[in-house]
Order: sequence, then C-alpha cells, then structure tokens
Amino acid sequence: MMRIGSIINGHDYKEDHRETMAVYNPYNQDHVADIALATVEDMEEAIQYSYATFHSTMKTMPAYERADILRNAADLLAERKDEFARIISIEAGKPLIYSRGEVDRGVQVIRFAAEHAKHISGEVIPMDAAHGGENRLGFVKHVPLGVVAAITPFNFPLNLSLHKIAPAIAAGNTVVFKPAEKTPVSAHRLTMLFHEAGLPKGSLNLLMGRGEEIGSPLVKHKDVHKVTFTGSLPVGRKIREEAGFKKVTLELGSNSPNILFEDIQVERVIDDLIKGAFAFSGQVCISAQRLYVHHSIFDSFLAGYIRKTEALVIGDPLDEKTQFGPMIDEDEAKRAKQWIEDAVDKGATIKSGGKREGPLLSPTIMTNVDHNMKIIADEVFAPIVSVVPFETETEVVAMANDSRYGLQAGVFTHDINRALRVADQLEMGGVWINDISTYRQDNHPYGGVKQSGIGREGVKYAIDDMTDMKFIGVNLNDKRPRA
Ligand code: NAD
Repeated sequence: MMRIGSIINGHDYKEDHRETMAVYNPYNQDHVADIALATVEDMEEAIQYSYATFHSTMKTMPAYERADILRNAADLLAERKDEFARIISIEAGKPLIYSRGEVDRGVQVIRFAAEHAKHISGEVIPMDAAHGGENRLGFVKHVPLGVVAAITPFNFPLNLSLHKIAPAIAAGNTVVFKPAEKTPVSAHRLTMLFHEAGLPKGSLNLLMGRGEEIGSPLVKHKDVHKVTFTGSLPVGRKIREEAGFKKVTLELGSNSPNILFEDIQVERVIDDLIKGAFAFSGQVCISAQRLYVHHSIFDSFLAGYIRKTEALVIGDPLDEKTQFGPMIDEDEAKRAKQWIEDAVDKGATIKSGGKREGPLLSPTIMTNVDHNMKIIADEVFAPIVSVVPFETETEVVAMANDSRYGLQAGVFTHDINRALRVADQLEMGGVWINDISTYRQDNHPYGGVKQSGIGREGVKYAIDDMTDMKFIGVNLNDKRPRA
C-alpha cells in the first residue's frame, strides 16, 4: 500500500503517528493509497519554509533560472504522461482518454509559464504630464507577492493545480499547495517533479489535509500573501470572508448555458455537446448543463442527442475504450440522483438515463425543466443535462442570464451579427461562438462574473495577479551644489 504525506522542504511527512485518510478508486473501490494528514504545526512549518525561501532565494532568482526550472518540469511531465494519466484515472475515476488530455494541457501550461517568466515587464510613466513633474522619472516594476496558498479541487487535479503553481513560480513567488483530499496522489507526484526539475525545495510545500482543518487556517495565516482557489461556491465565499486583506483569486462553479439557434446543422453539434455535458460525468465547472434549443430544431436535435448519448461506452476509466465512468464517489451520485427525482416530482421528464449504480450515474437528459428546479438553477456537477426549447433571441438571452453564475457560455449560429449581439448580452466571463461552453484553452483569460468567481487565470493573466505593482520615482531636479 502506498503511503504518502505532506512534502515540506522536500521531506515527506508520512510517519505512522499522523492521522491517516484512505484514497479509493471511485470505480471499483480499490484501496489506492493512504495519506498522512498534516497537523496545524505542519502547516506552520510549511508556511515558514515558504516564507524563508521566498526571502532567501525566489525573490531574487533571475527570470532565466525560473524559466529553466519550469521548462525542465514541463519536459519531465511530458516524459511521464502515461504515469500521471493513470494516476488521475485511478484516484479521480476519470476515463483515460480525458486524463491523457489533462496531462497534455498541464505540460502546455508549464511551458506557457516558462515563456512568460522572461517577459514580466513594467512601464515608464510620463511624469511631465502633471504640473511640476518636469525632471522626474517614474517607472513601475511588477514584483512577486511572497507566499501563495494554492487550494485546488478534485476534478482536474493536475491541470488546475498547475494553473496556480506554474504562474506563481514564473513570477518569483513560493507556494503552499493544498490539493483536494480525494486526489492527493497526483499532487504528491507533481510536487516531487518540481523539486526534481530544480525548484528549491522550500519554494513548493505540499499540505495534505481536509479543507476545514488545514485549508481554513492556511487562508487566514498572516504570512500568506495571496490565496488562489478553485472549487465550489460555498467554500469560495468562506475563503473570501477569511482572507482579509490578502489578494484572492476565486475560480468557482457554473451552470453553463449553450444556445442553439435554428440555422445550425444539428448533426454537426451533437458530438461536441455530448462531450460538453458528459465528459468526466459532468464534473467540469463549464459543463454544458443547460441547452437552449430553438423550437424549430428541438425535436430533431433531441432525437439525435439521445441516440448518440445512449451509444457512449460506459465502464472502467482505465479501459482505453471507456468514454464515461463513475462520479467521484457514491455520495455525489446519490446527491445527483436526488436532484433528478426532485425535478421529476416538479414535472420534469427523464428522456434518457437517470439510473444509478453505486458511484455511476448514467448520462441523463431531462426535458420539461423549469428554472426553479435545482438541476437547472444550481450547479449540477453531475452527468445531467437539461434541454429547453425557446422561441426568440430576447427570451433565450434572458433565460441564459437567469443565474447566479456567469462563467462560460456557448452560442451556435451561422449569423455572425446575431452571434456577436448575443455574446455581448450574455453575463459571462467568456463566450464561445460555435463551440461548447466546456471548451477552454489555457492561454485565454478564464474566470467568472457574478458568483462564478473573482479574477482570471490563463497563464499570463494569472501571472499578472501573482505580482504587485511597485512604483519608483526619481527626482532629477538635484539643485545641490557639487563639491
Ligand atoms: P470544494 O470546494 O469542495 O473543494 C475544493 C478545495 O477546497 C479542496 O482542496 C478542499 O479541501 C478545500 N476546502 C474545503 N473547505 C475549505 C475551507 N473552509 N477553507 C479552505 N479550503 C477548503 O470543491 P470540489 O468538490 O473539489 O470541486 C468541485 C467544485 O470546483 C465545483 O463547484 C466546480 O465548479 C469548481 N471548479 C471550478 C473551476 C473554475 O475554474 N471555475 C474549475 C474546476 C472546478
């Protein structure tokens, strides 16, 4: 049995006397690993090392060295693609086809960070634009913040951790990394990989533990300068309250809408929207949860959508052919099934799926859904998609915006004027035209409005938020006589 613990200054804190948490493969309940949980004293130590290493090393490490370390890490991760993909599939239950994609994206994220590390530049201010500013020089530097707390979710355990760790290092910070307790193995390997790549050991400290016990005191700690969090809305709200004056980035949930106007070719969008709704059992923050389909193509779309959804290969995430696997655990599948039953009680119809076996909830398509039902009003985070007809552009924009969330949306139409008009009206951090809400590239600004979050990731944008602006002014009016 693999036993792993927190990694503080390069040392694995996995001793037996610590409380242990077991990790199970969601698909078959195999006991994958035991994790030794960090104590609050361990957390103090991790922050102390991060703080000391920031001041002794990272703060002054030249950009080319930070870039070299990141490049080494990207190369190592690319070499170990299969190993990392298997770990993600085993600990998260993610089908291997998607786990491999996640590793590829992770490599790219580190490479983007390596490139940007050399281009964190500043600005010269035209000081003479103000009265009395003659003979003054003013410039702005972007300086690292210090200790960054990175708190991450289970659904993209590698890539979403890298969206925080790689930009933090690129900008010259140190990191205390608190991964999701359900997916600690990839986090452990990733931390070791960065050390192997040449990152000074105290610059990336891994803390294993439950959110309430370790995450919350980490967020409140006086020597942490920034909290970057990806996860659920309730936890994000708490972090925002507890972080005080620290900088905070919150990447939270969504119930993403996708709008299908009448001029599209229905057959051409079905496969993408199946992936959008059911990839990793819908446990994706920008999962296509709400499909608004023009009434004139509603029946033909629905028939094709159901037919192809029912052809998905369901099974063991480690099987190369599997397209659809379990949810993260049985409790989550029960919760989602309960939401389906609640909607049915209020008048919704299950058109496909809706069956649960342990942690596996079959891909579920719902119709006759009202906006007061949880499956559409809240973040479902499960393989449940609601298909809703609409008549007019005005009506569909209103329905899409009727949400506390606003992360990403998809708009499908060949009419470019309408596409841009609708994109402008959608209250979202991002809108895709002729693509699914679920599509994300790692180099565009990504983040939400409303209660989907604060701040943006997408490597360059995350780096911006991992620095402070420092203004330096020089008075060149030196009138003192020279010797
Ligand atoms: P979660 O909020 O339950 O947990 C996320 C992390 O927060 C974990 O590491 C957890 O231990 C920690 N945590 C829990 N309580 C804490 C506390 N009080 N203080 C500090 N840390 C605490 O989320 P999850 O179930 O792992 O992930 C699913 C959620 O993540 C969904 O809501 C999904 O939409 C969201 N998500 C958002 C994005 C995005 O980019 N916007 C991406 C992926 C996932």
